[in-house]
Amino acid sequence: MLFKDLNLIEPILRSLETEGYTTPTPIQEKAIPIALSGKDLLGAAQTGTGKTAAFAIPILQQLHKAKQVGKQYKSIKALILTPTRELAIQIDDSIAAYGRHLDIKHLVIYGGVAPNPQITALRTGIDILVATPGRLLDFMEQGFINLAFVKIFVLDEADRMLDMGFIYDVKAIVAKLPEHRQTLFFSATMPNEI
Ligand code: AMP
Repeated sequence: MLFKDLNLIEPILRSLETEGYTTPTPIQEKAIPIALSGKDLLGAAQTGTGKTAAFAIPILQQLHKAKQVGKQYKSIKALILTPTRELAIQIDDSIAAYGRHLDIKHLVIYGGVAPNPQITALRTGIDILVATPGRLLDFMEQGFINLAFVKIFVLDEADRMLDMGFIYDVKAIVAKLPEHRQTLFFSATMPNEI
């Protein structure tokens, strides 16, 4: 199995080639067709297995295709929640790499830094938002972020979210998402609470 066998659009295949990826990892091979079809997904995968591309590539492809067919509004269309600033930055870098030939706007927000540059960037109209829970909730409460038009939601490292005490933040965020959406849920372990 090669990336070119996964029904990916040419601009994404070209960026994967630049990255030097030819063969999908097992989680990518399994998850990409399901995520591309719009179905929900529960993925058991650790960091280092290639799970970022497993959700980032289908998001980029779906948003690109939607852009070709209809008028686009300045709303957040995909939200990726992840527990740490380091992971959030890595995910945003991956989106930049795999989406380098696409006209999809993405942004990463996290706490511990000045909020103003993030608020200014949000105002330009973001398609894919990568966020840690605390800063996202803070911006939502201040009215800087509206999640009413999110079509794809990714919960990354769900077990670590639980360990780090983010469960109430995550629940408060999920409550503001549209009920009709695609959810991609990733966790390294699957304890009962997950
Ligand atoms: P992740 O598990 O998403 O953090 O990815 C782990 C590392 O594997 C990252 O450095 C990726 O750039 C790299 N990677 C992801 N998918 C592939 C692939 N199909 N072939 C080669 N390297 C990959």
